[in-house]
Amino acid sequence: MIDRELKIGDKVWYPAVGTRLVREDCQVCFGNLRVVVRLGNNIEVSTPCSHCGRGYEGSSGYTNNWERVARAEQVSIAGMTVRVRSDKREIEYALLAPCVTVTGEDLFETEELCAIEVTKRNEAQSDAEDCSRKSSKKSSIEKLTWNVGYHQREARELRAKIAYHDERALVLKARNKEIKG
Ligand SMILES: [Zn+2]
Repeated sequence: MIDRELKIGDKVWYPAVGTRLVREDCQVCFGNLRVVVRLGNNIEVSTPCSHCGRGYEGSSGYTNNWERVARAEQVSIAGMTVRVRSDKREIEYALLAPCVTVTGEDLFETEELCAIEVTKRNEAQSDAEDCSRKSSKKSSIEKLTWNVGYHQREARELRAKIAYHDERALVLKARNKEIKG
C-alpha cells in the first residue's frame, strides 16, 4: 500500500486480480456448431451444440468466458477525489486502464511489492472459480444427451401423429367417395 499522497500522472503499480470476459472457441464442438452423440445402440446422431447455443439463434461456435487475471500492472493516476473527515484526508484515485477507483491500499510503489499482493489475492479467489468452470462443461454434455433423447422422442411422436392424421384423412376421403358414389 502507499501512504503518501499521489498526484495526477504519478506512475504506480496495481494488483489486477479478478476476472475479465474473453471470447473462446467452444470447448465442446470446437467451432463445428454440431456434435455427434453415439447412442447406446451405436447409432450416431448429429445435434446442434448446446454449450455455445443460444436457443433459437442456434450454436455460435464460441463462448464468452470469464478468465482469471492475476498480474501486477503499471498504472498512472488519472484523477483523484479528496474528502476531509474530521482532520483526516481520505483520497480516492481514478485509474483508466483498468477503469477502477481505488485507495492507496490498492496501490504499490514497485512491481515487486505489487506482485506479492497479486499472489496473496489470487490464492484467495482461485479455488471457488475453478470449481464452477468445470461443472459448466460437464452439464453441457449431459444436456446434449438429454437434447438428443428429447428431439428423437418428439420426432417419433410427430411421425406417429402424421401417420394417424394421414390415415384419418384417407378414411374420410374414402367415405366421401362412398357417399358421392
Ligand atoms: Zn459449441
